[in-house]
Amino acid sequence: SDKIAAAFETEILATGLENEVKVIRTGCFGLCALGPIVVIYPEGSFYSMVKEEDVKEIVDEHLLKGRPVTRLLYDETVAEDNSIKSLDETAFYKKQLRVALRNCGVINPENIDEYIAFDGYAALGKVLTEMTPEQVIQTMLDSGLRGRGGAGFPTGLKWKFAAGNKADQKYVCCNADEGDPGAFMDRSILEGDPHVVIEAMAIAAYAIGASQGYIYVRAEYPIAVHRLQVAISQAREYGLLGDDIFGTGFHFDLDVKLGAGAFVCGEETALMTSIEGKRGEPRPRPPFPAVKGLFGKPTILNNVETYANVPQIILKGAEWFSSMGTEKSKGTKVFALGGKIKNTGLVEIPMGTTLRTIVEEIGGGIPGGKKFKAAQTGGPSGGCIPASLIDTPIDYDNLIAIGSMMGSGGLIVMDEDTCMVDIAKFFLEFTVDESCGKCTPCRVGTKRLLELLNKITDGTGTMEDLEKIDELAQFIKANSLCGLGQTAPNPVLSTLRYFRDEYVEHIVNKR
Ligand code: SF4
Repeated sequence: SDKIAAAFETEILATGLENEVKVIRTGCFGLCALGPIVVIYPEGSFYSMVKEEDVKEIVDEHLLKGRPVTRLLYDETVAEDNSIKSLDETAFYKKQLRVALRNCGVINPENIDEYIAFDGYAALGKVLTEMTPEQVIQTMLDSGLRGRGGAGFPTGLKWKFAAGNKADQKYVCCNADEGDPGAFMDRSILEGDPHVVIEAMAIAAYAIGASQGYIYVRAEYPIAVHRLQVAISQAREYGLLGDDIFGTGFHFDLDVKLGAGAFVCGEETALMTSIEGKRGEPRPRPPFPAVKGLFGKPTILNNVETYANVPQIILKGAEWFSSMGTEKSKGTKVFALGGKIKNTGLVEIPMGTTLRTIVEEIGGGIPGGKKFKAAQTGGPSGGCIPASLIDTPIDYDNLIAIGSMMGSGGLIVMDEDTCMVDIAKFFLEFTVDESCGKCTPCRVGTKRLLELLNKITDGTGTMEDLEKIDELAQFIKANSLCGLGQTAPNPVLSTLRYFRDEYVEHIVNKR
């Protein structure tokens, strides 16, 4: 993409169009399968899989002569009579509703003016000048927003607990340590719309009475880190961070802390321990962070996607947000769609959309005419949903009821050729590697569980081993200290529940 952007800049200069056409680098459009993408405005022509050698033709034909190069456009946007259809009419976007991702692919993330032009910092202005902290918290409670990082705890309730605890110092943290294999929505928001997180954290700080925030982000996300740092310095320059924000006397500032790649640091207490400069290990709860969090002070921690919803809720109202979704899961959810699926990418759908709609319509189905076998949601903490449950409306509670979970939103599609025992092993190998080792059920239990799975796939397993797997998995879930261990057996348990015949086949056929 960098090379293509540079080629456009060179070509535009060479053709003397530099005063009429600007090249702007945006964040992700979501349709990863078709990248690199170039959109030409004002008409919104959507060029996909663009190569450097295509640039000259697009400039000569489209920009100079006003004739879109139809063969390079995303085919779903070209009608039979060669007229250009809106992107919203394509199968990938038609059923999506972009709230958290609304600015991604739209604005230049390194330009605060563009964020402001799309109502940016208007919500912060509104809370500081028109609302009390109690009203902000009530709005969050009424909206029904639940944490998008995995556990689905009501955001407003978390804020209310922290606001209720008196302390000389409180903190607001953002979990951007996205570690689930296959999940990249937080990265995309930070790369495409970093100001939304800054604005939401300032709103949260006002609501609970905090003056300092930390964004804990993976060092493996260099573009996200760079854009965050640019956005923070721009916000300081505009007086939107620091002292006396909007002339109201409210003070709030932010720092970015880099994580070193340990998956466990996505767990809230481990994350805070890591910010404190110690080894990133979970601590027992209670006390909960709202009482005793970062540096022993009341703290709230929300993830990137959760924050990305906040300014819109403040501006459009709790009722607008709660009108989307299901009874207990309001709003939208971003999923990272991957695996055996045509349209890999990021999709944002109203809660309650069925898995079938995601896979068959938005995702474009399985390549090569293969059959859908299962979808894995929730990364290493989640489980596999079999084809028989493809019509399940996706929300927090339905996913738990069928043995999976929302997690941060990874959604990996599997076709008929996938071995489900291998899938369970893949995720378990990941958690064995990432266990911090602090408690025995997780440190030792997951290793023993993996050994049993290896026995099954190398043909030396027995039916008795299946009972041991089940018993050990339940024990690890019940006795581990933190969420990593408590959820690590989920992929094993869900594949045992829905695909037991595949385990048995390995045992019987000794392969
Ligand atoms: Fe560490 Fe695993 Fe115990 Fe969590 S459950 S504290 S990751 S050993």
